[in-house]
Amino acid sequence: MKKLFIKTYGCQMNVYDSARIADLLTPLGYAAADAPDGADIVVLNTCHIREKAAEKVYSELGRLRRLKEEKAEQGGRMLIAVAGCVAQAEGEEITRRQNIVDIVVGPQALHRIPEMIARVERREGRALETEFVPDEKFDSLPAVRAEGPAAFLTVQEGCDKFCTFCVVPYTRGAEFSRPVAQIEAEARHLAALGVREITLLGQNVNAYCGAARDGNSWSLARLLNRLAEIDGLDRLRYTTSHPRDMSRDLIEAHRDLEKLMPYLHLPVQSGSDRVLEAMNRRHTRDGYLHLVEKIRTARSVIALSSDFIVGFPGESDADFEQTMALVREVKYAQAFSFKYSPRPGTPAAAARKQVPEQVKSDRLQALQSLLAEQQAGFAKSCEGLSMPVLFEKQGRKAGQAVGRSPYLQPVHVDDAEHLIGEIHDVTIARALTNSLGGMLVAARPKAVAAA
Ligand code: SF4
Repeated sequence: MKKLFIKTYGCQMNVYDSARIADLLTPLGYAAADAPDGADIVVLNTCHIREKAAEKVYSELGRLRRLKEEKAEQGGRMLIAVAGCVAQAEGEEITRRQNIVDIVVGPQALHRIPEMIARVERREGRALETEFVPDEKFDSLPAVRAEGPAAFLTVQEGCDKFCTFCVVPYTRGAEFSRPVAQIEAEARHLAALGVREITLLGQNVNAYCGAARDGNSWSLARLLNRLAEIDGLDRLRYTTSHPRDMSRDLIEAHRDLEKLMPYLHLPVQSGSDRVLEAMNRRHTRDGYLHLVEKIRTARSVIALSSDFIVGFPGESDADFEQTMALVREVKYAQAFSFKYSPRPGTPAAAARKQVPEQVKSDRLQALQSLLAEQQAGFAKSCEGLSMPVLFEKQGRKAGQAVGRSPYLQPVHVDDAEHLIGEIHDVTIARALTNSLGGMLVAARPKAVAAA
């Protein structure tokens, strides 16, 4: 077997894409390796969201150079591929700066990797594909493999929103939704492989608008309703949503669909209308709060999560205070928060009123301590409750298993290893910093059948 090493950066969509790259290469005789040393092909599946993303990829390539040379000294050949959003954004610049790179492939063209490897192996030079062809991509990928009872399923890619801080519309292209039948077939296949929970993925997943066989375009809510009919599939989630696309039928799905888990990641980014406008978020503070109210009316106990950017260009103390006030009002179960950092090519990067670094750090610290307090409060409120947990893998201790609560918190349970792959009721005994500890609820004795 040839050795394949994939390093994945960034979001769950990249995790899904990396699994699909492995699916594509397995039939060609490649087996996954834990380290790049001696690999026949190394794929860096990159993300452009974080600060200095491209620079981090270039330093990783610097480290790989030595491994590639070592392999060549032993008479072998290590192919190096850069995939994902940095590949899309940088294109040929990558091979210009790092001549050890053989393949540059954007996220919409990853299905072409086998053909690109063949081209490089035939010594036809380097291969570069950065076209936006999402329909071709999904049509060309092989059947997914399941690695455990929970899986991701990409249903939508790209974004038309153009928030002024974000590179996604430039690296992933316009919004594209996979057809309903294709998604349903993939979900049924996963369920047949033992998958009990599927998270539908998309950069703007609730903008989903996929062609169905009835000739209509289906919304995400309609798609969820269809997937909920699949036997053996017990849990559905979706991420990431935009407040603008939180439609009435989707809110109703949170009320009516038992399989749809009570967790929603709904990024707000800022609590100030002034900043939201400068970010081109196309929603207001009040609009967001109203949405939260509607969601909580539909499903009273739901774990809400969000993304926040502090120190966006022009953000004043008063703007930041509006964000803190919004957080106090919503009370999040979990959240991700970052200091604003300019992404080359985005409109906000050129803004003149950048916030000083120290101010950003102070604001981030204040926000994160409030969010941590809320996360701990939500976890504490779970103590003493019994809830169904899907056990996904072994824990650190012998016999221990780790699963997910309906609210997406990791739950550690002793003597539960035999339940991996199953859903079992657990009584939450204690809230830890980032997880819960619990005990299995004993199965009720079966009633003795009457003679
Ligand atoms: S909605 Fe905004 S932040 Fe989200 S992917 Fe689109 S442009 Fe980026």
